[in-house]
Amino acid sequence: MKNYQKIITKIYNDLKNIDDTGKIANYIPELANVDDTNFGIHITTIDRNFFGIGDSKKKFSIQSISKILTLTLAYQLEGEKLWKRVDVEPSGNPFNSLLQLESDLGIPRNPFINAGAIVVCDVLISHLKNPKEDFLNFCRILSKNPDLNYSEKVAQSEKSSGYRNIALCNFIKSFGNIKNDIDVVLDFYFYTCALEMTCKEVSEIFLFLADDNFTNQEGNRVLTMSQAKRINAILLTCGFYDESGEFAFRVGLPGKSGVGGGIVAIHPDEFCITVWSPKLNKKGNSYKGMLFLEQFTTETESSIF
Ligand code: GLN
Repeated sequence: MKNYQKIITKIYNDLKNIDDTGKIANYIPELANVDDTNFGIHITTIDRNFFGIGDSKKKFSIQSISKILTLTLAYQLEGEKLWKRVDVEPSGNPFNSLLQLESDLGIPRNPFINAGAIVVCDVLISHLKNPKEDFLNFCRILSKNPDLNYSEKVAQSEKSSGYRNIALCNFIKSFGNIKNDIDVVLDFYFYTCALEMTCKEVSEIFLFLADDNFTNQEGNRVLTMSQAKRINAILLTCGFYDESGEFAFRVGLPGKSGVGGGIVAIHPDEFCITVWSPKLNKKGNSYKGMLFLEQFTTETESSIF
């Protein structure tokens, strides 16, 4: 086994005090209250070895990283029919763009941009009795972690300032690809984005995408191997919006970012790694997080390519 602790410690020390040109997200007012010097890393291997450094045990707002979780549950419940509602193509556009929906007749390019995740939330609402409670419960059973929760403050903060998402949801509804009430869909979407986790918790909850033998707290598989492989494929091609190519080029792992500054990356059959550093580059991805993962896969030779 590689000496992950030594490697992450070295890269952490190299990057800790660099000039971070990123900016903390402030379009969700509550996110701007986070100390932007936070920097944490955690790796969980499929043999359940753990390596962490820095602020790896502080909770942060996982934001769009939760799009993997909503997609997983929707895929489980809806099966292949899901892809009639949302496509699997990279958008090459910012995460909150409305642009392509007009010509694509309300079918979002993929489930990892806001438009796609909003449709996925609509699918879940059609299946779940109490969407917020049921989804949270799904996450707790998946991660064997009863401590997971939403941040009420972040959810309310985004609700009061989520103009683009409100526009997206209305626009998609005009094409008939939102079946439920828009207020219910948006409320659920904002809560899913407001899930809070530590780097350690994030790297544990996504083990099901790395470990073929993964079972949840109830001893059940979450997805078939083929479904998990497909989610990894969409993560590789779409997980970083219009910077997905750059992430594949520099890091070489399937992964997902969030505007809270978290990034999770998965090495199938090996590990799951999470980095958190709140300042974002122009594409909305953690500036230091990208740098860290680039150095990490270089030093450990663990790009999938
Ligand atoms: N809640 C955020 C939004 O909808 C999520 C975006 C992100 O993390 N990229 O704008």
